[in-house]
Amino acid sequence: MQNRMIERFSIMLNCTTMNIPFLYLGIKVGANHRKKVFWNDMIINIRKRLSKWKGRHLSFAGRVMLIKSVISTIPLYYLSIFKMPVSVGKIIRKLQREFLWGWGHEGRKIAWVRWEHICRTKEDGGLGVKDLDKFNIALLGKWKWRLGKEEPGLWKDIVLSKYESWRKLDDKKVCSHDSWWWRDIRKICGGGCKENWFDKNIRWNRGIGNKINFWDDLWLGEIPLKDKYLRLYTNSILKKAKLGDAGYWNGENWVWNLQWRREWFEWEKDTVANLMREVEGTTLLRDREDERIWNDDETKVYTVNSAYKKLNKSNGTQQENLFELFWKMKALPSAQYFAWRVIINRVATYDNLQNRGVEVGSKVCVMCHCCDETVTHLFFSCRIAARLWKMCDSWLGLYSVHHNSVEIHFLQFKHLGLSKSCNIVWRCMWVATIWSIWNKRNNIIFRNVKVDVEEMFSLAQVKTWAWITNKYPRASFSYSDWCLCPTTCLNHCDSNHNI
Ligand SMILES: [Zn+2]
Repeated sequence: MQNRMIERFSIMLNCTTMNIPFLYLGIKVGANHRKKVFWNDMIINIRKRLSKWKGRHLSFAGRVMLIKSVISTIPLYYLSIFKMPVSVGKIIRKLQREFLWGWGHEGRKIAWVRWEHICRTKEDGGLGVKDLDKFNIALLGKWKWRLGKEEPGLWKDIVLSKYESWRKLDDKKVCSHDSWWWRDIRKICGGGCKENWFDKNIRWNRGIGNKINFWDDLWLGEIPLKDKYLRLYTNSILKKAKLGDAGYWNGENWVWNLQWRREWFEWEKDTVANLMREVEGTTLLRDREDERIWNDDETKVYTVNSAYKKLNKSNGTQQENLFELFWKMKALPSAQYFAWRVIINRVATYDNLQNRGVEVGSKVCVMCHCCDETVTHLFFSCRIAARLWKMCDSWLGLYSVHHNSVEIHFLQFKHLGLSKSCNIVWRCMWVATIWSIWNKRNNIIFRNVKVDVEEMFSLAQVKTWAWITNKYPRASFSYSDWCLCPTTCLNHCDSNHNI
């Protein structure tokens, strides 16, 4: 339209003219969210917050915290309405990764832990940083849930006036007049989604049978009947039948009456009998509506958090118990994050550096000069480390044999005479010992100091005492008490109920 025309219309209608895209209620109206430029403000904002000067002065733990807080400042309404393009997700991930690993004293910038691993929950072995792509999907999945709910809404009326039913999202083909928004939702949690994560989490409670699809929906058993009885499904006349179409009321009794395209062969009859036995154990309920429920949440309602958890669940065999205990501990964050990296073997030991293509020269352990330096050797089987762990035992009045596997070593680092919560406090000493070994190892390499086991042990004792008395405020015992009688001090932590 010509500018002159627009001006004339605006005078006629008594309104001002604007160019698209323009901001309305914080959303860019008329802009194409599939283009990178739409997301530029968000990227600039993140880049500014994760600036270099900030990273330089923060520990690893601090950088993790900052990355987490930056994500929480991103305008959620963008992510809950629009699908972020893959390229934008990549740029943000890169900014976060470089910020996390680009600093510190490890020389070359190596991303020691895969980003997917960082994004796992803490109990799952990660650091609980939010994966923006998956979070975006979880936010958008809510639209499909809400479209299928009874709640009224003008937005819903408008959308459904065009698409009829939320079930249309499950269509295998895209229609040329579908909006980009609809197409995105369909791709994320409808017919275009290969993993089918959304539908796998939906279950139906039977009511009058006007909403549940007999074959496609999960309403009986653990998988939809279509998947369980595929042969019978292909022979069914009403493939899209609702439960209510698959039978009739005979007085007060519901009678299932499935209809087939042909007679059954003799060898198929057992399967048909199985299906009938299964469905005949159920009936419809006249006094209530069919109800769609979200399988994952206690409330049975879709929540972004439960969807995100589902999408973010790793298939790995991480020991949940181990990390749960590990993060309950309240050691100094930077030391604790370092110990986390020891547990998952992502520390800059000689072997790990070499595996990542860094020239290291000698690989021999600088503590004992006997074996090659690996995480298992340096922190556990090296004779210096073994002496330290023994000193921990005798300090607590224990005699135990330590395991060289890091996970088992951590879990076995406890005193059976102490309560569970006291042992959580005691494991701060495990972190402090790991930290002390690493500290000494670096000082030997970079400052040419000598190995001194007594000093390393004392340092771990001091650190642990400082952390405990700081993080557990009512644990007020002196350093000399701590050295003389650690079990009494630990019990003191528990008896004060401050854990
Ligand atoms: Zn050694």
